[in-house]
Amino acid sequence: MSEDTGIVNISYVCEACGQAIKLKIDKSVHQNRRELMINGLATYIDVHADKNNHRHGVKLSIDKDFNVRTNTTIEVKQKKVDDIGIPLPSMKINKLTTKFNWESWKYLELDIKSEGLKFLLEKNEHTPSAEKTIESRIETISELHNVECKLDAVVPENSVESLGYISRWMESFCNALELSSSIHVDLIPEILRYIDSHAHRDPYYSDRVVLAILIDKASILIPNKNIMKYLKRYGPGLPLIGLDPVRFSSIIEKISEYDDFVMADIQTILEQNLEKDTELAEEYIIISIAYMLTMDALDYKLSYLSLDPNDL
Ligand SMILES: [Zn+2]
Repeated sequence: MSEDTGIVNISYVCEACGQAIKLKIDKSVHQNRRELMINGLATYIDVHADKNNHRHGVKLSIDKDFNVRTNTTIEVKQKKVDDIGIPLPSMKINKLTTKFNWESWKYLELDIKSEGLKFLLEKNEHTPSAEKTIESRIETISELHNVECKLDAVVPENSVESLGYISRWMESFCNALELSSSIHVDLIPEILRYIDSHAHRDPYYSDRVVLAILIDKASILIPNKNIMKYLKRYGPGLPLIGLDPVRFSSIIEKISEYDDFVMADIQTILEQNLEKDTELAEEYIIISIAYMLTMDALDYKLSYLSLDPNDL
């Protein structure tokens, strides 16, 4: 990985609103983009407002010399009656019928239009529920309408406020997916499990950052060796939810070997720590990275062109 760090200024003239837009891009994140090595261009999403304060999205292709080669407006499509029933032959449907027992919903459909991906998650049928629950359909859509999520939330009758929490988590998730330059598709089911187990409260700003990092294949993580050393020593005694402390320690040990790494490589890095036959294996990646970020054991650089809390 390149030792070169720093920020590069880029600019382009938006075809939609005619404004000259100036942006900053992280040099090392850009230079490590896989797409750049393959076809010489890496794409990014920029969202900005025109003179009438209408926000719109632009997809940028940037070459290895930091020149903006193309900029294409992302059309914000309003739902029309005509759209219903039109088949999408190019849509690759990624149907997941996991045996996982979702706590917060019994059905979830996630549609990432720009990637041509659709996730369908269903809950185990035979779920004994001790308490009375209510069901409610929740639909969230990202700002530029590229990512949609529909789910049938199931919450205890005495905590109707949980519906709002679930809705706000999914809103953050959809927006983070939309803004990510390079989506980590493999980890989406596990990130949804993470959301499922945290949706009993509102997402904090730090949760939105964690989601953004996990989703972004191009993000660079930089282990803080001192905190890592501390975690390795005291890790087994930490109260970890959903993670075996011994396994957490071994993940820390593995990650500590690196000065920095790209999120795209995380599965390879942890390969020897994962049990291939375990269905939840990849969930350990999500939970352990989330813990390390919460404990400031990892610094990070995102491929996002902006990380305004309002954008996530
Ligand atoms: Zn514009």
